[in-house]
Amino acid sequence: MSDCLFCRIVAGAIPSQKVFEDEDLIAVRDINPQAPVHVLLLPKKHIASVLDAKESDSELLGRIALVAGKIARQEGIAERGFRLLTNTGPDGGQAVAHLHYHLLGGRKMGWPPG
Ligand code: 5GP
Ligand code: ZN
Repeated sequence: MSDCLFCRIVAGAIPSQKVFEDEDLIAVRDINPQAPVHVLLLPKKHIASVLDAKESDSELLGRIALVAGKIARQEGIAERGFRLLTNTGPDGGQAVAHLHYHLLGGRKMGWPPG
């Protein structure tokens, strides 16, 4: 079994609250939500960050944006808006080295981000 936390979530070895799943992607509720809606979208295959994505991952990455929109509608945050982001590396604040996008909404987001 992989020692990557999110690979373990994908495999079902760590329980999660799934809000979406297809062949290539899953979306789960963040265990430590930073907003009323806080969902993590991740590819099932292990890609460490956007820096490790390949040309052949283009469709997969594009689908994350489309699925995020779908989940935003499902969660009722599409109308007022939301934030979709991926933290990358130490300065970006990435804690888990398996590519994931945060979908945050249900409150007004600050700018600039901390
Ligand atoms: P990062 O800091 O890498 O961008 O985001 C990692 C996110 O994963 C954090 O928001 C953190 O709360 C979340 N997280 C960490 N462990 C777990 C877990 O076991 N399950 C879920 N659903 N989220 C987790
Ligand atoms: Zn992984």
